[in-house]
Amino acid sequence: MAVKQREIEIKGARVHNLKNVSLTIPHNQFVVITGLSGSGKSSLAFDTLFAEGQRRYVESLSSYARQFLGRFDKPDVDYIKGISPAIAIEQKVISNNPRSTVGTATEIYDYLKVLFARIGKTYDEETGQEVKKHSVTDVVNFITSFKNDEKYLILAPWRLKEGISTKKSVEILLSQGYTRVFVNNELVDLTEAKTIKHVTDKSFIVIDRLKHNLADEDYLSRVADSVQTAFYEGFGDAVVFQIDSKKYSSFTNRFELNGISYIEPTINFFSFNNPYGACQSCEGYGSIIGIDPNLVVPDKTKSVFDSGIAPWKGEKMSEWKDNLIRHAEKYKFPIHRPYAELTKSEIDLLWKGNKDIWGINNFFEFLQQNSYKIQYRIMQSRYRGKTLCPDCRGTRLRKETNLVKIDGYCLSDFILMPVTDLKNTFEKLKLDKYQKEIAERLLLEIKNRITYLDEVGLGYLTLNRQSGTLSGGESQRINLATSLGSSLVGIHVYFR
Ligand SMILES: [Zn+2]
Repeated sequence: MAVKQREIEIKGARVHNLKNVSLTIPHNQFVVITGLSGSGKSSLAFDTLFAEGQRRYVESLSSYARQFLGRFDKPDVDYIKGISPAIAIEQKVISNNPRSTVGTATEIYDYLKVLFARIGKTYDEETGQEVKKHSVTDVVNFITSFKNDEKYLILAPWRLKEGISTKKSVEILLSQGYTRVFVNNELVDLTEAKTIKHVTDKSFIVIDRLKHNLADEDYLSRVADSVQTAFYEGFGDAVVFQIDSKKYSSFTNRFELNGISYIEPTINFFSFNNPYGACQSCEGYGSIIGIDPNLVVPDKTKSVFDSGIAPWKGEKMSEWKDNLIRHAEKYKFPIHRPYAELTKSEIDLLWKGNKDIWGINNFFEFLQQNSYKIQYRIMQSRYRGKTLCPDCRGTRLRKETNLVKIDGYCLSDFILMPVTDLKNTFEKLKLDKYQKEIAERLLLEIKNRITYLDEVGLGYLTLNRQSGTLSGGESQRINLATSLGSSLVGIHVYFR
């Protein structure tokens, strides 16, 4: 049996200008190859060692897999012993594609998209109620909780199609085999339905009359069939009426709440590279051309009083500043405080204004309205620049995605968080039993990658950061974290 190789042995390497080099390199250690530029460091590490590692890996694959990978030439060397499959980390910026981010480059974003599509819950913005659609199983589960022998009706709201009279509708129902309707809490035989003049929101088609009996083995499948029919006849709505307690319970299989329809989360919904998921305001670029706050307040150590608001400096425009000063006391706005030290609500007041105070936004609206005058047009253009898109906060995601949450966080929250915070948040993420079951594998992949990113010292980056703005060293570490995060073992890592 061969002795397990503890080092890499290279004999007679002649790639490029290597002059028949032979050497050994220990395993499981951090090895640095140094030397003058052009002395052959890369020829040795990349063109000999890494190339041979790759070649052997590909050779080990089936001939079917190999045809997709192309041929790898054997480097010019007598022999190499003891090498493993290898990954190479090159010092170059990952991508200049403006749509590539730390999140997409590390694949974390791909997993987050799936995570939100699978276990994200949609909430109404105002009431905080969860938006749900009911399945047949939900209704059956509800009924299962009834007490034995409880009598109830499975109903579908009775709605008239356009141009159809009540009389005609009754005829149609009879021809479909229905025998009763339920109107104003009363069962009415369809053959006697002549008495019904109007169909109201208290009118239902009786799909089934039942007595709760779990002992009957056909019972639950009959319930399920009837619920399914109720959803169909009710155009997505079904109602269960408990006879003794006179209790109505409504179900809908449409994704809506209080009459408002919501978009059901899918993977594409969370994909900013897809027109469906991209923010509609900035078309997925994360920034828009607008008034640039940094141009409006170029020196943040200045207060409003001290002419910190650049466009309000001139004699003509100073009436805007005077207006603010005049009402400052009433609204407790600190006119002498440097802009940088203002609280969020003070900055909001300064920009948005109120019934007395003219805000900076009102000022630019005024310029816009008067832009037929050249001096206002010039002034406007002076403060325009690329600014963060207010709808998506630069995440490029359509704003409806903010309604979909996991433990109170939306996807944008996650991708705007520094990686270290993200790691801590994921460690404490509270999920219900169902979410845990579904997300287990995804969470593992996400946590793995976040942990590696943090461990290679990139905890300060956000997943939203554009790849093109990273330094060479940062990109290199991201490549490393990505390769390690994808759970390869026993690999050699080459850095350039
Ligand atoms: Zn946007």
